[in-house]
Amino acid sequence: MVTIIGGGIAGTLLAGALAREKRPVTVYESQPVVGAGHFLALDGRAHAAMADLGVEIDRLHAASHPLTELRAADHTGVIRSDSRTDRRMYLRADLMRALTEFATATTADIHYGTPVTELNAAEGTLFSGDNQVAADHLIIAADGIDSLARRRLEPERTAEYSGQVIIYGITDKPIRPDTDPSVLHFQRQLDDDGRPVSTFGHFWDDTISVWFTRLTRAPLAVQDIGIQPIDSWTEPIMAGATAIPELVESLLAATNTVHVSNARTVPLADARPPRTPVILCGDADHAITPAAGVGARDAIEDAAAIYEAIATGGAPAAAMAERRNQILAERAQAAQMFRSAT
Ligand SMILES: Cc1cc2nc3c(=O)[nH]c(=O)nc-3n(C[C@H](O)[C@H](O)[C@H](O)COP(=O)(O)OP(=O)(O)OC[C@H]3O[C@@H](n4cnc5c(N)ncnc54)[C@H](O)[C@@H]3O)c2cc1C
Repeated sequence: MVTIIGGGIAGTLLAGALAREKRPVTVYESQPVVGAGHFLALDGRAHAAMADLGVEIDRLHAASHPLTELRAADHTGVIRSDSRTDRRMYLRADLMRALTEFATATTADIHYGTPVTELNAAEGTLFSGDNQVAADHLIIAADGIDSLARRRLEPERTAEYSGQVIIYGITDKPIRPDTDPSVLHFQRQLDDDGRPVSTFGHFWDDTISVWFTRLTRAPLAVQDIGIQPIDSWTEPIMAGATAIPELVESLLAATNTVHVSNARTVPLADARPPRTPVILCGDADHAITPAAGVGARDAIEDAAAIYEAIATGGAPAAAMAERRNQILAERAQAAQMFRSAT
């Protein structure tokens, strides 16, 4: 029996994969419905991992939009382009709908609107309010960046602000800006010393138009994050996108609400080695700023590694230790490439 805390991307995927193989699995998810708010790009590795776990690739394609190129520019014009064609763009709600369909078609026992409020890591017991909801030899904590499990296991390993406020918008109706479709366009604004002040990104095709901005500034208070009306953000967003004012104005004018968050990272370097009965998975273990664009891919690959360990009689703790080594090596490589490109 496996108990999963969190029915987000990793938790739902892992639950569906295990239950598909007739392994008993229970999920506790705090929200009644998962997935509203923003959008995300997933690469070929994420798709390969989901397909290996049994998610139909046609279903994923139907839920997403081909993303043919990442194209970054500053005031001097195009500065970087990456046209690997294995990425797809998802509204988060559409991705979660596809994964939830995958999991609910199995015997996975998913309890929505049921937050885990306490856990005893030594005994492997979980509580929701006054009720003990599980006593298990294996608990997978896929409960996201503010993980209760991580707070209990490693109280010193807290999420750190990465210096940017992130605002995501989805237009109410698709609009067709005067830019290439199916491309994720980035426009960077630098200060006099070449440091990024803001980045504005957008993507559109026949059925959606979405945009985001990252503003370098102090973190927001809790009451200012989540879904917010666009009005309070129009001015700072326009101020951070002076090179493309008409484009930004047209996207903002077609958007009612925005998803606002502080970009944060969960440090991994000095993490306590994974140990049963409670294993951290995905953002709970190693969230990375959305600017990296790989957090969901990493969470999906964690789910795949844990699934593989359980299915083959291996040790999920060893599988996650191995995942951490891979993630640390990839992040070091990405940092090196970034240094050489700037
Ligand atoms: C604005 C934004 C843009 C992003 N863009 C990208 C991108 O382009 N590409 C990419 O790869 N990644 C992206 N990411 C990162 C990606 O969304 C995360 O890395 C991914 O969602 C992590 O999946 P997860 O399953 O670990 O956590 P989550 O998907 O966050 O799921 C955690 C779940 O646990 C539930 N939960 C929390 N606490 C409890 C509790 N106590 N009891 C029960 N349930 C609980 C939550 O409600 C949630 O449903 C982006 C993130 C943001 C915020």
